[in-house]
Amino acid sequence: MSNVIKALIDGVLVESKSTQFVDMVSPLTNEVIGKVPCMLKEEIDEAVQKAHQAYLLWRFTPVMTRTRVMLKYQALVKENMEELATILCKESGKTFADAKGDLVRGYEVIEFACSAPTLLMGETIENVANKVNTYSYKQAIGVCAGITPFNFPGMIPLWMFPLSIVAGNAFILKPSEMVPNTALRLAELLYEAGAPKNILQVVHGQKEQVDMLLDHDLVRSYSFVGSPAVGGYIYSRATANLKRAQALVGAKNHMVIMPDANKENVINALVGASMGAAGQRCMAISVALFVGSSKEWIPELVERLKKVKPGVWDDESADYGPLITKKAQEKVERLIQEGVDEGANLVLDGRGATVEDYPNGNWVGPTVFRDVKVDMSIYKEEIFGPVISLLEPKTLNEALDIINNNMFGNGTSIFTSSGASATKFRREVLVGQVGINIPIPVPLPFFSFTGWRGSFYGDLHAYGKQAMTFYTETKTVTEKWFENEEHEEIAFNFKENHSK
Ligand code: NAD
Repeated sequence: MSNVIKALIDGVLVESKSTQFVDMVSPLTNEVIGKVPCMLKEEIDEAVQKAHQAYLLWRFTPVMTRTRVMLKYQALVKENMEELATILCKESGKTFADAKGDLVRGYEVIEFACSAPTLLMGETIENVANKVNTYSYKQAIGVCAGITPFNFPGMIPLWMFPLSIVAGNAFILKPSEMVPNTALRLAELLYEAGAPKNILQVVHGQKEQVDMLLDHDLVRSYSFVGSPAVGGYIYSRATANLKRAQALVGAKNHMVIMPDANKENVINALVGASMGAAGQRCMAISVALFVGSSKEWIPELVERLKKVKPGVWDDESADYGPLITKKAQEKVERLIQEGVDEGANLVLDGRGATVEDYPNGNWVGPTVFRDVKVDMSIYKEEIFGPVISLLEPKTLNEALDIINNNMFGNGTSIFTSSGASATKFRREVLVGQVGINIPIPVPLPFFSFTGWRGSFYGDLHAYGKQAMTFYTETKTVTEKWFENEEHEEIAFNFKENHSK
């Protein structure tokens, strides 16, 4: 069969013997451009067994040898950036500039992986007791697995395997069945950089193949990035098997606009952060909270958004590409209709957008809702599309309440010229990544990338099912603290008591 997507086992591309396939469909034309195999149990098992064998030797390979592979790898990824970006555009529909951004953010992780000798240093202390010294080492744990989404075909696989491998582990990558080619080319380049056979395997499939990995005794840990339902399932099943797991999931990111902000900066930031990559970013701004008189800037924002156009990846005038599938487009359109039915004011409707020569592409134009209420589905659900909801709280406290009561906590930002407002927001908002006069606060790789509450399941920053109770309690304590004129005295007494 032609166009069957190969797996990467033993460091070479091989064809699966499976007879079950998922169609890979071009978001520009809806033509089938590849057949992704749902790999057989014995093939997944073989990939894991071989990765485990590779790990047994790799973990004893000197750290400088492992680092040199990453040094070579980062040079190769840079050299092949144009080719990688073209592959990425063709399968995802992203614009060329966006594809390069995707790869550069991943490339930075490889650069960071080149600091392995320092990153892997342990801790020691002499004389912890009489004639006793203590040493703590960071050791590789074995075969790690990564399950990645469609929306960052380059960056997200690169978040995972370079750091895992440089630390002495082996890695099994199961990329999104919608965009497997970028991941495959990135994996091939790792072998060109001198990685040992089998240290990275790329396998394909869907739920069944992920379950095989989750239940395999030799896979020790899982990194997942994708939707909340799948992330919750993977996290639960991995941890029920007593494995390590982290799942970075959905988002509804709010940007707060204070009346003292710079209007031009606000409008520029909102246009890019809400519509970039057709809103298919977990850090996209999908809700703007115009506090007080800043709502007067809304008509100007809408005028600017009217000029934003979707288009084809190699058209430099295109602001963003199509949605990934027809199903994704239909879901966004259904939610837009629900917004209208629930009484929100649709001031810009992106349904029915067209792009010349691509009548079958999954196009949605910029879409803006005003008068959105927090109980509407357009507010509550993650809309992975170029849709922004505008709310108009009267005060910063009201804006904080809205954000902290939303189930997600991936990213947020505030635009203000007041240091006091920025500090209050930074301290009181229950969101993992906070921008001040920056719309999309994605940290560089030497900081962790983690949402809070419903945006992350793992042992850091996750709040579990009690997220909302936690917020109410925190808020009550915080309010009491700030209401109390004596709070400085309390802080002083606390210090006094604890220094005695
Ligand atoms: P998805 O959950 O549909 O798919 C992600 C991966 O899970 C794919 O590899 C897919 O094959 C696999 N998968 C799908 N169904 C499965 C099942 N039932 N069991 C096991 N595995 C399954 O996500 P997507 O549509 O590719 O990506 C979009 C989502 O990813 C959005 O919700 C977005 O917010 C989220 N995302 C989050 C972050 C973050 O850092 N928090 C980053 C990027 C994307």
